[in-house]
Amino acid sequence: MKEFEKNIRKVEPYVPGEQPQQKVIKLNTNENPYPPAPGVKRMLKEMEADRMRLYPDPTAGELVKTLADYYMVDEDQVFVGVGSDDVLSMCFLTFFNSEKPVLFPDITYSFYKVWAGLYRIPYELCRLDGDFRIVKEDYRRDNGGIIFPNPNAPTGLYMELKDVEDIIDHNRDVIVIVDEAYIDFAGKSALELIPKYDNLIVVQTFSKARSMAGMRIGYAISNSRLIRYLNDAKYSFNSYTMNQAALMCGPEAVRDKAYFEEGIRKIIRTREWAKKELQRLGFSCLDSKANFIFAAHPKHDAKEIFEALKSEGIYVRYWGSERIEQYMRITVGTKEEMTVLLEFLEKYLTAAEESAKS
Ligand SMILES: *Cc1c(COP(=O)(O)O)cnc(C)c1O
Repeated sequence: MKEFEKNIRKVEPYVPGEQPQQKVIKLNTNENPYPPAPGVKRMLKEMEADRMRLYPDPTAGELVKTLADYYMVDEDQVFVGVGSDDVLSMCFLTFFNSEKPVLFPDITYSFYKVWAGLYRIPYELCRLDGDFRIVKEDYRRDNGGIIFPNPNAPTGLYMELKDVEDIIDHNRDVIVIVDEAYIDFAGKSALELIPKYDNLIVVQTFSKARSMAGMRIGYAISNSRLIRYLNDAKYSFNSYTMNQAALMCGPEAVRDKAYFEEGIRKIIRTREWAKKELQRLGFSCLDSKANFIFAAHPKHDAKEIFEALKSEGIYVRYWGSERIEQYMRITVGTKEEMTVLLEFLEKYLTAAEESAKS
């Protein structure tokens, strides 16, 4: 082994869902099937290339102000980053510096483990119960911080705000991060708890409900003190995280509340319909409150279904990891896309059952 090898930071990286470049029915990375708000398109058209000559506003002032107005908080309570992945990574770096383990669920967003590894943060997993629910009592042990998504991914299950509050309340000496990537499809946000708990950070994103995964915008809302610590870390890392296009288009998406709410309504309607259709085909689906459905079939192997779908040009997500080997995660697309998926599944299951009989 080369001498320098021992000084290299070796990490086990996150594996993102595939982004096939040919045209497929893409239900594997929880993107929104509808375009961003019309104002975003307009802004992209009007944007002058000359704007790119200059560095962008390092404070992301207009984007921060638009978000602060929308959520009715002060501007110094908002931190923005390059997708919520960037914001969450910055949170791990800034707030999780204890010798004690950070706690998060055993089945959750797989990036948490990766950041813990990257930053050498000890962690312990809290097992979801038999119904894949977060057990709030598990978060009452000694720890160096807590993070969980609500709704959780990839289960889609939403935890009632009183249970989220219970976890925050039992952990007043550490920072609790609630990752609300899918909250707009679900229920009450933990944002309303921010005035009450000085240890709470809520992280959200433009990637899902706002149809802007390609723009990479995420944000954290908390009290001004914790946001200051995040900004100090950011300015020690890269002052210009947000590019000019994101700074100009982001506010347009936030201002168009009617378009945003209509898009969410459409996805929820399709989600509830698709859940029923999947159940009709014999799948068991968790009661997802996000823009995806976590489903398993009692009689058919999930990996085989996943491969069959893929060879049809229908991409869903499959992990094959412990406890969820028989589950696939299906993003809620348009009703037309879901119809193609369901028709193929029906054909596939019938053929598989026929061949099992003969
Ligand atoms: C999608 C997702 C994110 C990150 O999304 P960005 O595109 O980086 O904003 C964070 N947490 C969870 C649970 C997600 O599903």
